[in-house]
Amino acid sequence: MDYVKLINCMRCGMCLPSCPTYKETFLETASPRGRVALIRKLQEGNLDQSEQLLEYLSLCLDCQACASACPCGVNAGELVAEFTCERKSDSGLGFMEDLILRKLVPHPDRLETSMAPMRLYQNSGLQKLVRTLGVLKMFPKQLERMEGLLPPLPARPLRQEINEITPAVGTERGTVGFFLGCVMSLIFSDASRATIKLLSSLGYRVITPRNQVCCGAPNMLAGDLVGLKDAAHTNIDIFGGYNVDFIVTDCGGCGAELKKYGDHLDGYAPAEAFSAKTRDISQLLALHQDELRTKLKPLSLKATYHDPCHIAHCQGIRKEPRDLLKLVPGLEFTELEAADACCGSAGTYNIERPEMSDLILKRKLDTIRASGAQVLVTSNPGCLLQLKKGLADHLPDVKIMHLTEVLAQSMAG
Ligand code: SF4
Ligand code: SF4
Repeated sequence: MDYVKLINCMRCGMCLPSCPTYKETFLETASPRGRVALIRKLQEGNLDQSEQLLEYLSLCLDCQACASACPCGVNAGELVAEFTCERKSDSGLGFMEDLILRKLVPHPDRLETSMAPMRLYQNSGLQKLVRTLGVLKMFPKQLERMEGLLPPLPARPLRQEINEITPAVGTERGTVGFFLGCVMSLIFSDASRATIKLLSSLGYRVITPRNQVCCGAPNMLAGDLVGLKDAAHTNIDIFGGYNVDFIVTDCGGCGAELKKYGDHLDGYAPAEAFSAKTRDISQLLALHQDELRTKLKPLSLKATYHDPCHIAHCQGIRKEPRDLLKLVPGLEFTELEAADACCGSAGTYNIERPEMSDLILKRKLDTIRASGAQVLVTSNPGCLLQLKKGLADHLPDVKIMHLTEVLAQSMAG
C-alpha cells in the first residue's frame, strides 16, 4: 500500500458527517479518519492485526462518501479495500470464496444455472408456503435475509434472450458495446432491455457480447485481486474484438469497476482504452437531451432520485440522471435529502452486517417518506434490491424504478 495515501490525512474531520457508520456510532474507529489512522499504525508496525481491528475495518461499506468529502484526496474506503486485498493475497481464498469467486461468478452459464432452483422455488408456490409457515426462521439468519431480498425473477436471464446485435433505429450514429451486468441480466432484465431500446432508438447499433463475464466487482469486494484481473482481461479481449465507440453499462457497480480496469492493469494499453471508452448510461443519454426531449411523452408522476455510491462517489456522476428525469414531461422531480448517502446495500454488506445495514436503510427510507415521491429512481442493482425490499416493508405505496425504465416508459407513451 502506498504510504503517502495514508499520511495525506490531516485529521481535519471533514469526512465524519458523510460516513454512514460514523453517523450511527459516533465512534472514531468507525470513521474514515479513524480507519486511515488504524491502517497507518499497522503499516508503521505500531499495532497488531487483532480481530478487533479487523472488525473495525470490516464495518466500512466502501461507499466512498468520505472521498467525496475529503479536501486532501484521501479515500478511506479504497484504502480499506486495498488493505483487504493485501491480506487476502497473503492468506489466500477460503474454500467457499474460491468456489463462488473463481468457479461460479466468472462463468455466466453456471451462474444462470445456479439461479434456476430459485426460479422454481418462486414459481412453484413453494416460496409463498415457506414464507407463510415461517420455515426460514429455523435456518441461519443470513439465509432468511437473502431470500427476503430477492424480488421475483424474470422468466429467463436477459443474456439468453437478447440478440447480440440490436440495430439502430433510423440513421446509425455509432456503435455501442453494452456491458450487461450479471445482476441486471438475472434479476433486473426489464431495465437493461429498456437501456438497449433507448440506445437503439437514439441511433446506436448495440452489441451485447454473449460471452462477456462479470466485471470483477465481487472479487474486488472479497479482496481477490487475481480474480478481478482475470475478469478484466477476459472482458477487454471480448470487447476489443468489436469496433465500438463506447462501452455502456446501466449498472453503477459495474461501471465503477470497468472504469478502473486501466488502474488495475497498470500500463496495459488495452485496459486503459477500455476504461476510457466506458460510460454510465446516463452519461451517454445526457449527450442527446435535445433529441430525447422530442421523443419523450408525458408521464404524470412525482419522482425522486437516489444516487448510488458507485455512480455519485466512485464515478462523480450526479447531474446527468437528474437532467434526464427533468426532460420527462409531466414528471415532477423532487430532490431527496442526502440523496448520495448510502442505502446500506454495499454488495453483500446487507447480508453480512444486517444491523448496521438496517440502520442506514432506515435513514434513507425516512428521507424518501419526507420527499413525498411516488417513485424512487436509481440505477444500481444493489440499491434496487435493498430499497425495493425496504420500500415493500415500510413504504409500500412508493414504487422503485431504474432510470432507463422511466425514460423508456415515457418514450413508449
Ligand atoms: S480523511 Fe480527509 S477529510 Fe477525513 S480527516 Fe483525513 S484529511 Fe480530513
Ligand atoms: S467508505 Fe463509507 S463507510 Fe467506509 S469510511 Fe468512507 S464513508 Fe465511511
